[in-house]
Amino acid sequence: MPEGDTLWRAARTLHAALAGQAVTGFASSLPEVAAAGRGLRVAGRTLERVEARGKHLLMRFSGGVTLHTHLGMHGAWHLYRPGSRWRRSPARARAVVRTEAAVAVCFDPPVVEWLGPLAESAHPSLATLGPDLLAPDFDAETAVAGLRARADAEIAVALLDQQALCGIGNVYKSEVLFLCGVSPFRRVAELDDVVLGGLVATARELMRRNLGPGTRRTTALGQARGLFVYGRAGRGCLRCGEAVRRTVQGEQARATFWCPRCQPGRPGLRAGSNMDPEETAMTMTERERRLGLHLPVAVSGTDSAGSSFAEVTRSLNISARGIAFECRHRLAIGARVELDIRLPPALRAHFGGGDVYRVKAAVCRLEEVAEQDIHRVGARFLAAAES
Ligand SMILES: [Zn+2]
Repeated sequence: MPEGDTLWRAARTLHAALAGQAVTGFASSLPEVAAAGRGLRVAGRTLERVEARGKHLLMRFSGGVTLHTHLGMHGAWHLYRPGSRWRRSPARARAVVRTEAAVAVCFDPPVVEWLGPLAESAHPSLATLGPDLLAPDFDAETAVAGLRARADAEIAVALLDQQALCGIGNVYKSEVLFLCGVSPFRRVAELDDVVLGGLVATARELMRRNLGPGTRRTTALGQARGLFVYGRAGRGCLRCGEAVRRTVQGEQARATFWCPRCQPGRPGLRAGSNMDPEETAMTMTERERRLGLHLPVAVSGTDSAGSSFAEVTRSLNISARGIAFECRHRLAIGARVELDIRLPPALRAHFGGGDVYRVKAAVCRLEEVAEQDIHRVGARFLAAAES
């Protein structure tokens, strides 16, 4: 997925190929974007420069006109010679900028829009961006203050907040926390300025290092693997050998990868923050009693098509009211699920002494985990009489 460094590389490549040239044509598979391009008479303007701001790409044309794209998870800018074959379908080309020498095509961006000279300063996402980690005038103190302002957020969630500082995506988030030995579940308020400053400096250093050609890497050159933890759930930590864990965090349920031994802190998924609105009314004492587990757990129940299923989930969280877990099967709201949780010895007393804790629950919340075909399920415990 594109992160700040990807966008900087794309902007640099597009700038080198196109800056200073006259635009000979603009097209888009989105009728309103194509019409806006015609209205602004983009053809005939000069493409002055291409820049990245965090994960946004801004193509500047003469007369103060800007094409703004955000690549999201699956978007990409491609550069072609006129007449050569594109690597994605033209139907997915949301922006096509032609000059005599080149054709720049943006495929599948979730955001593509034209901005007039005054639009940027009032733009809801562009005007509120925090300091850009890759900008030459990057200000680390402002970035730390931006994180600090999100005192209650888990650090892994705060690092993705582009209004605090911009450029970090999911890969760098996990890698930076690992390299700094910081648990992704720590609240910003628990971390001092030295730790926050270290995270910011490490992110900047890693992203700058990856501005050159080649695949993204956070490990030293010459090592077999390019990344320490991202995408490596279940495999051994490159430092200590412990199994790397994966969970999802934040309202957008973004994946976090981490090593529980190298990044000590509170265990597991931070208590079902997405489970149900009533939970926000729980007292601190109840919050502290919640328990997060990261264990292979057997789950069985009935899926949305009415057939029974059983699978092993990698991520599970229990609170006083219910349970949250990740599931590959399609469940429906209201579906009954039965979970067999295999408990580690230290937790058996807490749950009554057996090594398997069986719960029955009803699904009350479903969320798609963006990057994989997995759903995050929130389920409320069923009372004995109901089950
Ligand atoms: Zn480790």
